[in-house]
Amino acid sequence: MNLKPVSRPADDLIARFAAITGIAHVITDPARMAAYLREPRSLYHGRARAIVQPGSTAELAAIVALCHQTETKIVPQGGNTGLVGGQTPSEAGDEIVLSLLRLNRLREIDSVSNTIIAEAGMTLKDVRAAAEAAGRIFPLALNAAPACTIGGNLATNAGGSAAIAYGVARDLVLGLEVVLADGRILDDLSKLKKNNTGYDLKNLFIGSEGTLGIITAAVLKLYPKPQSTVTALIGLADLDRALRLLNFAQEEVDTELKTFELLPRIAFDFVLKHDATAADPLNAPHAFYALLEFSSQSLGLADRVQTLLEAASARAISAEAKIGVTPEARKALWHIRLKIPDVQVHEGGSIKHDISVPIAAVPAFLREVEAAVTARIPGARLVAFGHLGDGNIHCNVSQPVGADKAAFLARWHEVNAIVHGIVAKYHGAISAEHGIGRLKRDLLPGVKDPVALDLMRTLKKTLDPRNILNPGKVV
Ligand code: FAD
Repeated sequence: MNLKPVSRPADDLIARFAAITGIAHVITDPARMAAYLREPRSLYHGRARAIVQPGSTAELAAIVALCHQTETKIVPQGGNTGLVGGQTPSEAGDEIVLSLLRLNRLREIDSVSNTIIAEAGMTLKDVRAAAEAAGRIFPLALNAAPACTIGGNLATNAGGSAAIAYGVARDLVLGLEVVLADGRILDDLSKLKKNNTGYDLKNLFIGSEGTLGIITAAVLKLYPKPQSTVTALIGLADLDRALRLLNFAQEEVDTELKTFELLPRIAFDFVLKHDATAADPLNAPHAFYALLEFSSQSLGLADRVQTLLEAASARAISAEAKIGVTPEARKALWHIRLKIPDVQVHEGGSIKHDISVPIAAVPAFLREVEAAVTARIPGARLVAFGHLGDGNIHCNVSQPVGADKAAFLARWHEVNAIVHGIVAKYHGAISAEHGIGRLKRDLLPGVKDPVALDLMRTLKKTLDPRNILNPGKVV
């Protein structure tokens, strides 16, 4: 990389940004900046010199080149829905937030190659809608879809509820356009499935949380639109049966299984207590629930799911089940799952973990976590839910009933240490889909192979020698 001499951060830096984007797109008014400086859980609240909103890749590259020249630190930001503080500037106030939201054009849909070229600031919801309008689907499925952006999804390598069938964000990308730390544009907007012409550079930037380059556009994979979709909610007596059901469903319907979510009864109780619109779809309470979604190009899916569930019941795997075929019935079965994150706040403090362990280890892992956490904090409540089909559990710990919230949350690191220690024992990951950001940066050296960490730091120095891209995040 060709390093130009560093010039002093000029007093007229704001004017120089404005000369590139237009003054309307350089925000310095504190009231207008506020929304960009706080992340969704309010764990971090930063300050910044300005919010800069380029309207094209060329403008963004010019801004980054200027930042490189003046050693101005940049925090890339998409929809600001990230859950590990990666998109929030530090409290020092010496960074700019580089918002991608104006880079929101759909560049192309190719329904023969089954690809879409989306700019990084397009929301996931808009990309999904554009695919549907072309008779295809883009299968990344997150609850944050109306606000989160494709750039943020790729920068965090988001997972979501359809990863069991389609993979994580990384698996849905064919090519990328990236602005490097010195302002050069890497044009790798390839549609090719087979391209063995050297290193797979796009995968360096996917999951790098804005620390190695700024994603400005992507070629994404599309899939045929299913002819039918069926949802099923299944009551289970224990966690081991949830795993048996997963294996059984995969054997019986194979690729038609698109989602396998786990819910514990306590999550049901929280939603039923705090959401007046919620109703229990099943007749009796169960210790655990599995929420399954199936889709198919072939006729007869509902019958195949019905047969599967009857067979699961006959084998004493499931206790009770309900199927939804119409959009309304399916939505009703999803309701409790989607409301869990919202209602947890009404039960006081919640110490959160986004972990993964090998699928076979999930029951033993959760039992061990519950025993260890309640031994340390009697009455603490494990609310472990999420993407069992990928071994990815949101292993949250709610405070004991009536406990002091602040005192409980003050034990965040202590509870993290217990849970992450058990994750390590099962060869799992302390971040399955949300990333490292700022929240888990100091935990990384404790869990990452030292050689891997050394390589990560070497890559960071090579691609961002002046450390201007999201400093203090990930490594
Ligand atoms: P931001 O929050 O703006 O940024 C996230 C990170 O990416 C930051 O480090 C930022 O610097 C970097 N970044 C953003 N854009 C770019 C870019 N163009 N180039 C380089 N770096 C960039 N996550 C999941 O994985 N699975 C889920 O199921 C899921 N569900 C969620 C549900 C809710 C209600 C919420 C609030 C969040 C959820 N998330 C989930 C987390 C979050 O939505 C994802 O991490 C999402 O991918 C972030 O996208 P964003 O555009 O909001 O990115």
